[in-house]
Amino acid sequence: MAVRLSIRQSPSDSELQEGCGLPWGATITPFAAVDENDHQPVHGLHAEDLPRCESCYAYINVLCEVERWSWTCALCGNLNGLSNEMADRYERRSSSYPELSSSLVDFDFDEEEDGTNSGQDFQGRPVFVAAVDLSASEDFLELVKSALLAALEAISPGSLFGLVTFSHKIGLYDIQGAVPVVKQVVIPGDLDGRLPIELDWIMPLESFLAPVENNKENIASALETLKPTSSWERATAAGQSVEGVPLGGRGFGVAMDALIKYLGAERGATFAIARVFAFLSGPPDHGAGQLDTRRYGDQYASRGEDADKALLPEQTPFYKDLAALAVQAGVCVDLFAITNEYTDLASLKFLSIESGGALFYYANPDDATLPQDLYRMLNRPYAFGCALRVRTSPEFKTARVYGHFFSDPQYENLQHIICCDQYATYALDFEFSSPQGFSRNNEAPPVIQIAFKYTVILPVEDDEKYASSGSANGSSLTRQRYMLKKRLRLRTVELGIARNIYELYESADPEVVLTMLTHKVIQASLTDGVKEGRLLLHDWLVILTAQYNEFYKLARFEQRNTFTRLDVAFSNSPQLQPLPRHVFALLRSPLLLLHEEGVHPDYRIYLQCLSSALQPSFLLRSVYPVLSSYTTPDKQAYPRHSLSRAALITSGSPIFFMDAFTTLIVYYSATADPSLPFPPPQNCQLRALINKLKQERNITPKLLMIRGGHDNTEPFERYLIEEQDVDGSPLGTGMGFVSFLDQIGRDVMKYME
Ligand SMILES: [Zn+2]
Repeated sequence: MAVRLSIRQSPSDSELQEGCGLPWGATITPFAAVDENDHQPVHGLHAEDLPRCESCYAYINVLCEVERWSWTCALCGNLNGLSNEMADRYERRSSSYPELSSSLVDFDFDEEEDGTNSGQDFQGRPVFVAAVDLSASEDFLELVKSALLAALEAISPGSLFGLVTFSHKIGLYDIQGAVPVVKQVVIPGDLDGRLPIELDWIMPLESFLAPVENNKENIASALETLKPTSSWERATAAGQSVEGVPLGGRGFGVAMDALIKYLGAERGATFAIARVFAFLSGPPDHGAGQLDTRRYGDQYASRGEDADKALLPEQTPFYKDLAALAVQAGVCVDLFAITNEYTDLASLKFLSIESGGALFYYANPDDATLPQDLYRMLNRPYAFGCALRVRTSPEFKTARVYGHFFSDPQYENLQHIICCDQYATYALDFEFSSPQGFSRNNEAPPVIQIAFKYTVILPVEDDEKYASSGSANGSSLTRQRYMLKKRLRLRTVELGIARNIYELYESADPEVVLTMLTHKVIQASLTDGVKEGRLLLHDWLVILTAQYNEFYKLARFEQRNTFTRLDVAFSNSPQLQPLPRHVFALLRSPLLLLHEEGVHPDYRIYLQCLSSALQPSFLLRSVYPVLSSYTTPDKQAYPRHSLSRAALITSGSPIFFMDAFTTLIVYYSATADPSLPFPPPQNCQLRALINKLKQERNITPKLLMIRGGHDNTEPFERYLIEEQDVDGSPLGTGMGFVSFLDQIGRDVMKYME
């Protein structure tokens, strides 16, 4: 679990907090294998035995003072008694108990709390179901097939796999034989229509879910049979003439509703969590859950309404409700949208993010990294059925939380996370319980404790041998079994206290500050539109700059000639210096670009979902990419350049490397020595870096190789934002970052007056 604070030294009271202009909060990556300093958790036993504070319910931890028969809570200061048994244990060897020696500990639960002994007897199997859109092109299906073939290699033995297709009908596959059997049911076209029959009547679930290790070839041959539904078939189904527009025919909503109910019947018997990979090639346009995509066209046509506001909210609660159903059924949906058509991800996204899944979006099947993304997703561990509880010292509390989770309806500061991997990151804001803050308490430093309860599926080696039903030579295999393990991960962090603004500025973490800002502007855009999000961000920088100048007495509004002395570059505070650039870049990011600049609304929604779960260092790269230069593919020239054409020209390097998180670009300048190998050879330093970056990310970045003078250089140049106007005027108007700072300076003066 990694925890990063936006300001490492907390403000001492609310006057200082409001006066400093910086967000006060933290990011939490609960399932990360290490903490923010790369330390692994210590392993503890018996979460049930851990002493807890009688006043605030915090768990005993390394910061608590332990006496012979009692302990003092590090969070609230309450004196708690120790049971005889625990007192004896701690008395003997207190330093060997992980809870008293480490700030990051993983504990096992012995039994289920609700009395069901699922840890031992219930052999939950991993279940994966691919739901494939057949109202699609050949290219789409080829991409999905290759992704699923790659996925089969990553699915561990003992898992169950199912294949379902959807168009104007649902196709269920029995893939446990050499020739796949398909059963179909037609989806009614009316808006509130439901299937006339339950899927279990068409095919029992045990025929549908196939053990993956015995059926890989069968699955591959079933995938080979997938063909797009013809437009003729679709038009007929939609009640239109053959000559008519091929509208209608993607009954995604009904298909997912039926599939979730179908799988849900086996929750707790076959599986604890089933993961559905839904591959979608366009908007659902048939039956219940269909989406009206004309609203996109209307926006372009009328231009009257604020498109940046109109296209962000969902048009129907259908997919939100479906996600709630999925959670009940123990089904987590990962949505892969492969389309350049407007698909209204604003409505669809809830099905994935609220069921614990991820949203992937590929505008072009030709360069989609879908196979790699799916393969890597299956290869990494995940936790499910999680609860995240943040406790603080009583002087302060959590004000707001950000990320893909559900807040508990009953308990404060308790968040439910359906499913997450080691990358999933959440953020929260703190506020004081009273204006005095920490100023009255000079002894005990403030503390936060994060408790993360989660379940993992672990393989268990089974000695029992059995004859493999699929193998002719009767060889025996070790059957792979699984068990569910419930754990509690505890992290306790002591906060320092800053007594003045100077100390606060010194302890700011610009990456976390940017993360908090990004969450805030995404939220503002969703509720009030993109323009409002932009305004919020601009005003934030103006106020921060004004407060900084106030503090350093650099500019006073009573003096007439103050403008020349205004410092918009934060010259006295190294920790704040990157912020104006980051804010400028965030304003240039597709997250906050205006509709007129050609941001596809689906791409924006995808970026919002991605950015809302990124750890701070990844988020920064996606907002302000890292540009480095090389003299040869084996020799780095400079590790860092600002994103400006001028920087490129003055550096004189022949090769540049741009890491924009979702995209990696190798760029050879037009004047590069032609004897330099292009593309860079496989065994060079630059390639090693590229491979490393690809490995450590939750999504597979797209890799582009561009030669100036030969190729289209626009994909590279679009990242050189510093000469671009912050409001999207075309290049070469002399605007850009420098004039953005001028504007901030003028607004600061106005604000200070
Ligand atoms: Zn306490």
